[in-house]
Amino acid sequence: MGIEIKNVLAVLPEGAEDVIRETTIYIEKDRIAGIGEKPAGFAADKVIDGKDKLVIPGLINCHTHSYMSFMRNVADDLSFMDWLFGTIDPIEQQMTDEDTYWGANLAIIEMMKSGTTCFNDMQMNIHQTTRAVKESGMRAVICRGLVGSGNDEAGQSRLRQAYEERDAAADCDRLTFKLGPHAPYTCDEAFLRIVAAEAKKENMGIHIHLSESESEISQIQEKYGCTPIALAERSGLFDVPAIAAHCVQVTDEDIEILKRKNVSVVTNPASNMKLGNGFAPIAKMLEAGVNVCLGTDGAASNNCLNMFHELSLLTLIHKGTGKTPQCVSAKEGFRIATINGARALGLESEIGSIEVGKKADLAILDLNTPSLMPRNNLIAGLSYSANGSEVDTVIIDGKVTMEGRRILTMDEALVYRKIQDIIVKMGLDRKVY
Ligand SMILES: [Zn+2]
Repeated sequence: MGIEIKNVLAVLPEGAEDVIRETTIYIEKDRIAGIGEKPAGFAADKVIDGKDKLVIPGLINCHTHSYMSFMRNVADDLSFMDWLFGTIDPIEQQMTDEDTYWGANLAIIEMMKSGTTCFNDMQMNIHQTTRAVKESGMRAVICRGLVGSGNDEAGQSRLRQAYEERDAAADCDRLTFKLGPHAPYTCDEAFLRIVAAEAKKENMGIHIHLSESESEISQIQEKYGCTPIALAERSGLFDVPAIAAHCVQVTDEDIEILKRKNVSVVTNPASNMKLGNGFAPIAKMLEAGVNVCLGTDGAASNNCLNMFHELSLLTLIHKGTGKTPQCVSAKEGFRIATINGARALGLESEIGSIEVGKKADLAILDLNTPSLMPRNNLIAGLSYSANGSEVDTVIIDGKVTMEGRRILTMDEALVYRKIQDIIVKMGLDRKVY
């Protein structure tokens, strides 16, 4: 299958920056086969007219919990621990496999419609999410959420499930797997050490929540006499490729550890603000050379999975909190939402930028829209004024999954019906419209 995106404006990497050029992109099977230059023997089965369009690398959502999308708007305006243990946890206890599956479907629809082509997911029921990813044509990194104490059987069985799912999905190269020790307040140090050793043995990376709230800092300080980041380091979690979500409450020493151990930090500005956890010191981290990427977190704490919304917050809030309008420029923000995410996931040679040989994971935006008019600085437009509704077409792994804003790989109406059924079943339908 050959796809030609003809005479289109494209965001292309040029050294340390992205530039916008008019070009033609050639896709063969799952990869970008040519940019501006037609590959020998290329035959287009499909030609997309690029007039009044902008093609960007698909956005990479580096931290979410896809199943939570049916919990959108059910637990708002609560403190972090009340939100997690008072409301979300009890809902999760009654969740079935099907609830997880439809929740993941809704999340995928929302992400695809706002230009995300890959997400990094953490959760307990990974089988249902891998099923939704396989069917939808999405790309994902799936992290089995792990909670455990020492080498208790519950923790061990969760590890076994992680490996079983990874092995069962070996035929789908849109799926990769990591281990997801949930957080230092739900996993004790002995269990974190076991997870680190397992990750090393299995050659897998890890994805963990770290230093998200002040209450977490005081709990860990009291129990272990150090910060959550220092605990993660001494447990060996940073001896494998590591992704740390949040890192809001961090010290200068923590930042030094993150840099030295090459840990990628996922910042989730909407979730951090909504749960009253504060602002991660992103300017300091970037200055220290930490790889910062971007995530939405779950819909229960955001409440949306739209990376354009997140990109706008990222590029705005640090200017305000630091009184530094130069901080997180539009160009820097766009890289944080794309190639930095690919680097965090260990997929930078495959996705995250439009380059010959990489996977064809692309979003095509309609430029005949007020948020991207005038076309004088489109990267600024992507970071500050786009809202995701400009995304017209999405290509993942060389396949068109959305065209004219219609998702071709999923039954949207069915997903919406199922989600309404779930909230009625769970008594979460408060009939407040
Ligand atoms: Zn999270």
